[in-house]
Amino acid sequence: MTRETLIAALQSAIGPTCVLHRPEELMLYEYDGSSLDQALPDVVVVPGSTAEVAAAVRAATGMGVPVVVRGAGTGLAGGTVPDRGGMVVSLARLNRVLSIDPASRTAVVQPGVVNTELSVAAAPYGMHFAPDPSSQRSSTVGGNAGSNAGGPHCLKYGVTTNHVLAATVVLADGSVVRLGSTVPDAPGYDLLGAVVGSEGTLGIITELTVRLTRNAEDVRTFLVIFDEMDAAGACVSAIIAAGIIPAALEMMSGEGIAAIEASVHAGYPPDARAVLLIEIDGLREDLADEARRIAEVCTASGARELRTAADSAQRERLWAGRKGALAACARIAPHYHIVDGVVPRSRLPEVLRYSEEVAARYDLKVVNIFHAGDGNLHPLLLFNLRVPGTRERAVAAGEEILRACVAAGGTISGEHGIGLEKRDYMSWLFSEDDLSAFADIRAVFDPTEMMNPGKLLRTGAPSADQAPTQAFRRTTERGAWI
Ligand SMILES: Cc1cc2nc3c(=O)[nH]c(=O)nc-3n(C[C@H](O)[C@H](O)[C@H](O)COP(=O)(O)OP(=O)(O)OC[C@H]3O[C@@H](n4cnc5c(N)ncnc54)[C@H](O)[C@@H]3O)c2cc1C
Repeated sequence: MTRETLIAALQSAIGPTCVLHRPEELMLYEYDGSSLDQALPDVVVVPGSTAEVAAAVRAATGMGVPVVVRGAGTGLAGGTVPDRGGMVVSLARLNRVLSIDPASRTAVVQPGVVNTELSVAAAPYGMHFAPDPSSQRSSTVGGNAGSNAGGPHCLKYGVTTNHVLAATVVLADGSVVRLGSTVPDAPGYDLLGAVVGSEGTLGIITELTVRLTRNAEDVRTFLVIFDEMDAAGACVSAIIAAGIIPAALEMMSGEGIAAIEASVHAGYPPDARAVLLIEIDGLREDLADEARRIAEVCTASGARELRTAADSAQRERLWAGRKGALAACARIAPHYHIVDGVVPRSRLPEVLRYSEEVAARYDLKVVNIFHAGDGNLHPLLLFNLRVPGTRERAVAAGEEILRACVAAGGTISGEHGIGLEKRDYMSWLFSEDDLSAFADIRAVFDPTEMMNPGKLLRTGAPSADQAPTQAFRRTTERGAWI
């Protein structure tokens, strides 16, 4: 079989305009939101319906060609990087909100709907889609489900899996199944729960029924400023220990604060060593008391100052700083490797300090920007890929930090998933038996290991004589077409 045969089969299955195969078209699909891994697909399809997704998948897997599903490609673990070549399925054309039912507070959406666009569509009904990854202006609801995305407000409202009620899924053989139900506590195994967060390894979600959340009556947002990073870290656990669950509890530290301020003009003091962005929401009469208690805990933890957003414009500016933080750090260095670990909240100060020590030892800059309330830690290791050896140093430093998270009783991903980047670290947490049980579950959905092979688990590694399924694969070296 040749690449030309595959392209011809796909063109006849779903029509020539939905099949991209020229080098300049394929280059757009060789990377995700992280800077470290890149590989070219052999072909990209852009189907416009579940039936077209199924036809394309059937054609590809029937020829032994791996399939990688892609939402907006903002993932940070290499999940959409087609490292074995094959077919990328872009869901960009499946981008419609199909219906909103205010009575049941649900929406039916196609997977390519951008996260914020769903909330915009729900706004006239006084509702929104609660999972709010900081990439929400570009990432898709399907990608959020594929990676089980978290976000600032997931501390109070739960991560994506808590908001997906049902899904239509295309399996590796091209069959279409419907999983989940809008009925609460439906009987049977939670197969939908297995698919959400499976990073495209079990099937392709082509339609979702999601929960919508009523907008809170009132919201208050605080910027809390610290001269010491440790004090800010300790304040996070003190707030939760005081029995307060804010809607969001975010932390930023180090020179990232000045970079954010220079880029976004969010109102962050550039000389602060750390800031917390705290938001509470609920009934108006409850918020005054909660605000007072938060101020007390922050003062007792050594905060220099607590500022309250006076109106929605100020609130939006504070959030623009947080949500634009990654991009702002390009002012410090052009590339980043973002580490995604979790630690028990009480261990935050020590692991934060350790991440700074590790970065210094590897001669890298580090900025910590993270969902502190749920112990999610994101040291952003900053470097310039053009300097030989920096990529390797960033990977080694990230690995040391993740080992420290595990040693502190935490884990290796809070929200970005495992993808390519961390599949070899799964053995730090899981025994051989655990990993083989995961592989067995995967085999129930995809016995031939064609769906995003080698992601999440190191399964389905091609043997030497299979390498040509990579049949027609070309790899790239930092974006150059070979
Ligand atoms: C600036 C920035 C900020 C970010 N902030 C956050 C954050 O706060 N929280 C967070 O969790 N993540 C965050 N991320 C990571 C990323 O945005 C999320 O993981 C997001 O959910 C990915 O959505 P996407 O549409 O880009 O999916 P993609 O990157 O295209 O795909 C992500 C994974 O899901 C799979 N997938 C995609 N679509 C489907 C589908 N329809 N069916 C099955 N599997 C599918 C893919 O194969 C891949 O493994 C951030 C990224 C950036 C660049």
